Amino acid sequence: MSELVDKLVCENLKALKPYESARRIFAGGDSDSEIWLNANESPFANDYSVDSSHFNRYPDCQPPSVVGPYAAYAGVQEDQLIVTRGADEGIELLIRTFCTPGKDSILICPPTYGMYAISAETCNVGVNKAILNDDFSLDIATIKSFKDKVNLVFICSPNNPTGTSVDKAQLSEVLEHFADSALVVVDEAYIEFDAANTWATELAQYPNLVVLRTLSKAFALAGIRCGFTLANSEVIQSIMKVIAPYPMPEPVAQIAAQALSPKGLALMAEQVAYLHTQKEALKQQLAMFPEVTLVGDDKANFILFRHPLKQALMDYLVVNSVLIRDQSKQINLENCLRITLGNQQQNEKLLSLMTEFFAQQEPLA
Ligand code: PMP
Repeated sequence: MSELVDKLVCENLKALKPYESARRIFAGGDSDSEIWLNANESPFANDYSVDSSHFNRYPDCQPPSVVGPYAAYAGVQEDQLIVTRGADEGIELLIRTFCTPGKDSILICPPTYGMYAISAETCNVGVNKAILNDDFSLDIATIKSFKDKVNLVFICSPNNPTGTSVDKAQLSEVLEHFADSALVVVDEAYIEFDAANTWATELAQYPNLVVLRTLSKAFALAGIRCGFTLANSEVIQSIMKVIAPYPMPEPVAQIAAQALSPKGLALMAEQVAYLHTQKEALKQQLAMFPEVTLVGDDKANFILFRHPLKQALMDYLVVNSVLIRDQSKQINLENCLRITLGNQQQNEKLLSLMTEFFAQQEPLA
């Protein structure tokens, strides 16, 4: 059997390593007994109701109960949006729609979110890199040098895992430079934590702009898998040719509609404000530990920091059932760990374990 698989599996997949999601790294864990601060999820589990009376029917491909409210929330027209299984599916659909396998390429700006490269590789699409500058701003000259060599330029803002938001003037320059040659995809998975910096309202000005969004972060709905791609209607119509016939399960549509109701939006805003308060407290405490350097910025719901003993610290936290994310394999992020903001109790538990850890490292008197 394995010979058959070897013979048949696509050439470009042979060497490919699947994305090491937080959930895959610690598979089989239990979020009731462990503290999960490793996947940039929300610590809130909000209540929803589900009506099963139409579960015998296929769902709408693009449920109007979700499309309408999200378009209103994002400030776009309904034909400028497509609902997907998380922003991850949006990334894959963009690549499948706009890149020819074995021929075309995308551009990414690492250190950044890993799925752009993995999705491209699974589709046999090339991946070019314009590494961020030391301060994590865009390396504009290098990005520009890829004109006519890439079909999609992925820019994450706020960026995972650096927490930095892209400079407006820099992004305008990129959009204009690629106006006639590539789509510029701004991944706004964390935009509710830096709402003033959205690009969603600029679609009319930039025909080659695409914005990715999700309910997985500020909306506290990572478990339902619901994301959005916002773009001009021609781009959306092209993606509609590729998307599965029934991508949105009916329960997902029902829950998303509730999250996007005025009550749901108010709850999200309240929880984002709470997390901002937690972020300030956590940052202050972290900066007081010996040799901890905060890295990047805090525009999202996580904090990145560097420590020479990152592995020992990580191991100590894991043994004590607190999970954070190692980012040290990413370019320019040696010894960096990322903490997703939890609730006050979870953040305090993390800090008390870090206090214990650093106390143990002190040289014996
Ligand atoms: N973009 C970024 C920058 C992310 O960090 C993530 C999730 N970690 C995603 C997209 C994917 O989000 P979703 O859960 O909507 O697929």
